Amino acid sequence: METKKKDIRALTKEQLRNFFVKEGDQAFRGNQVYEWLWSKGAHSFEDMTNISKETRQMLEDNFVINHIRVDTMQKSNDGTIKNAVRLHDGLTVESVLIPTKSRTTACVSSQVGCSLDCRFCATSRLKRMRNLNPDEIFDQVVAIDNESRLYYDKPLSNIVFMGMGEPLMNYNNVLKAIDKITSDEGLGMSPKRIVVSTSGVPKMIKKMADDEVKFKLAVSLHSAIDEVRTSIMPFNETFPLADLREALEYWYAKTKNRITYEYVVWKDINDKKKDVDALIAFCKFAPSKVNLIEYNPIDDGEFQQAPDQAIDMYVSMLEANNITVTVRRSRGKDIDAACGQLANKS
Ligand code: SAH
Repeated sequence: METKKKDIRALTKEQLRNFFVKEGDQAFRGNQVYEWLWSKGAHSFEDMTNISKETRQMLEDNFVINHIRVDTMQKSNDGTIKNAVRLHDGLTVESVLIPTKSRTTACVSSQVGCSLDCRFCATSRLKRMRNLNPDEIFDQVVAIDNESRLYYDKPLSNIVFMGMGEPLMNYNNVLKAIDKITSDEGLGMSPKRIVVSTSGVPKMIKKMADDEVKFKLAVSLHSAIDEVRTSIMPFNETFPLADLREALEYWYAKTKNRITYEYVVWKDINDKKKDVDALIAFCKFAPSKVNLIEYNPIDDGEFQQAPDQAIDMYVSMLEANNITVTVRRSRGKDIDAACGQLANKS
């Protein structure tokens, strides 16, 4: 009976070193292989040219490298690129490259599908199938970094966990991926250029604070009134605003990091003065920034972007309360690559 080969990238460097010692080789061999796997992006054991043929064969007999494959790449009129990424078990996720004058940002997925049920988000229609492994998250970033160099002549500068899935429901793997992305053995990126976006899982926000993570936190708030939020993000029933707020206070007390809120203003849902009042009351306990995101329609018109006057009201009221506010235009809409549009259509 053939035993299932292990994913070699599930091993830590220490485990890899120990493996070689057990095989009668030197621990140092583990460092070499580790470097091939994480810094040099080897897709096969064949690639590892400074490792002897016998050793490569032995690795082949014991392990697999579950590398992702970019199945299709679509390019938007505005330069945004969307990758449909095939995983080793045939499932697919999507990731996006967003180029601007000053930066190129990778938007990566953390789960196949999503277990949350935000009613305005296309991903919520794919039920959660599984969590991504750290190497599958890392590979998405590497693929986008390569595309950024190839098409825009510069390396990737920022990463946002705003693709498919809820990163805090796959916290350990996201953390491991970020470790690789930020370590010198991986991509050596600064954690300050990484944003993890969550719909708000209070327990995990506290855990992040305890773990003293160095990346940034963004919260998809969309409403600071429980009744409204539950109607558009039903899991708010389980994690109500009071719990979220308490976790954010804990986060801020520990990290002193500004909190970013993502917020879409919809017609007849959250476009009144009382909605802005509630938002201000919710976030003024700490330095905050509100990103007003443009709504990307995914359905037959149940949700509609609020008119400009409503956006203007949000901007002026927030500014009057010393809350930083930005209005963000969508990118990549023509190829279904914008926020909330990732649904493995291709
Ligand atoms: N689960 C995480 C990350 C994925 S969603 C989170 O909720 O933050 C990334 C962002 O896109 C979130 O702020 C989400 O609320 C927003 N979003 C989802 N659907 C959208 C849509 N149709 N139009 C605009 N933004 C949307």
